[in-house]
Amino acid sequence: MTNTIPQTANSPYNTEEWKRGYDSQPNEYEYEITDVEGNIPPDLMGTLFRNGPGLLDIGGSAIHHPFDGDGMISAFSFKDGKVYYRNRFIRTEAYVKEQEAGKILYRGVFGTPKPGGFFNNLFDIKLKNIANTGVIYWGGKLLALWEAAEPHRLNPKTLETIGLEYLDGVLEPGDAFAAHPWVDPSCDLDDGAPCLVNFRVDPGLSSKITLFEFAPSGKLLRRHSHSIAGFSFIHDFMITPQYAIFFQNPVSFNPLPFLLGMRGAGECVQFQPDKPTNVILIARDPSNKEVKTFSVESGFVFHHANAFEQDSKVYVDSITYQTLPQVQPNSDYKAVDFEGLDPGQLWRFTLNLEDGSVERQMLESRCCEFPTHNPDKVGRNYQYLYIGAAPSDTGRNAPLQAILKLDLHTKERQLHSFAPSGFVSEPIFVPKPNAEKEDAGWVLTLVYDGSKHRSTLAILDGENLAQEPVALLHLKHHVPYGLHGSWCDEVFI
Ligand code: FE
Repeated sequence: MTNTIPQTANSPYNTEEWKRGYDSQPNEYEYEITDVEGNIPPDLMGTLFRNGPGLLDIGGSAIHHPFDGDGMISAFSFKDGKVYYRNRFIRTEAYVKEQEAGKILYRGVFGTPKPGGFFNNLFDIKLKNIANTGVIYWGGKLLALWEAAEPHRLNPKTLETIGLEYLDGVLEPGDAFAAHPWVDPSCDLDDGAPCLVNFRVDPGLSSKITLFEFAPSGKLLRRHSHSIAGFSFIHDFMITPQYAIFFQNPVSFNPLPFLLGMRGAGECVQFQPDKPTNVILIARDPSNKEVKTFSVESGFVFHHANAFEQDSKVYVDSITYQTLPQVQPNSDYKAVDFEGLDPGQLWRFTLNLEDGSVERQMLESRCCEFPTHNPDKVGRNYQYLYIGAAPSDTGRNAPLQAILKLDLHTKERQLHSFAPSGFVSEPIFVPKPNAEKEDAGWVLTLVYDGSKHRSTLAILDGENLAQEPVALLHLKHHVPYGLHGSWCDEVFI
């Protein structure tokens, strides 16, 4: 097989090693991690949950895009300086049926067709709810999230699937519920209590955005819907104390090839680079019905880092792609030409609430994705951002092999690189108990080691990111490249 990824002489990674991070992991494990370098901090107590595609093939047939891979949860439980690992596939209806059959039975959003050709896919709009994107523990429930359908509830101790979850009647069967909730650490509407904020989008010729806010008990506090003009592809959003913020990316959707079974729904979304992005501000207080819309030349945004309000302005920090390639039928995601893709870059958008203008400024040009920060700073002015990044700034796209810490006040950067054989996942920041400094905490990232075909959970020091890792916890196997995770202060063993 020819190597279709061009490698320059100074390429910091080996393409074949990178590709193996997309091998399926069909096995389910449960063990204490004993292959440890460094020392696990005894005051790091709680559970790291991660979600992502665990299977990249079904019965030997490769799926067309990793976003179509069956969701698999990994849990790392930290207790008294010991760490226990467990992974389980979410027993979605599709996972159970396809594993029984040993073959692909459902269509994937990103183009994985059922075998049998055109006629077998014609007008079959039954999609897999693959539960593979996010995971959060809230209101006593562990939820695996996938943005186009309802969550699956899991047992937080065993990761066994309990079933589809309707949040005490908040959702109806088939309702979308986004995979990117935020925890507001101190909600103005609830006398400073924390709350969980999430949304759903019902796209169409005009789109409906519904905002949900939940108390720590899981009880619904607020729900309100707003209609916005045009089709919407909205994966992530951002909150401030007053607002929920949505970037309506400039895309069009032509459903015909999808309905005819020729393409996955994700392949029918077309980026429109000549059109502006609409930035939509919805007041979180349901009594305020006003929706503010700003227009900005932005490119395409999947993920936001943070946002905050200051002096009649709203600041939004987001990862932006100048162009986005369309998912092509019959393409091989493992044959991606990184050099030919625009990098994700960190931009700050400043929305002026008084005159409706928007300014934008690039904060980081190096290819980066999966931003995080201290959870106490969600929606607040913040100083430190941590993000998966390319080990050097080539101006082009590249695999994420490093974690970058950015000081937004001083512009100082710290980099912890795992190149050439390490490929990082989304970092998660866990504050130290009773810490006063914003960066006093641990940065956890699951690193795929392509030279050993195994994954390692790295614990980095949030204050001194570039120094030796606090600890490296080597798994006995690999975990395929994942999507999102979350930290929970409770220990589940
Ligand atoms: Fe995401």
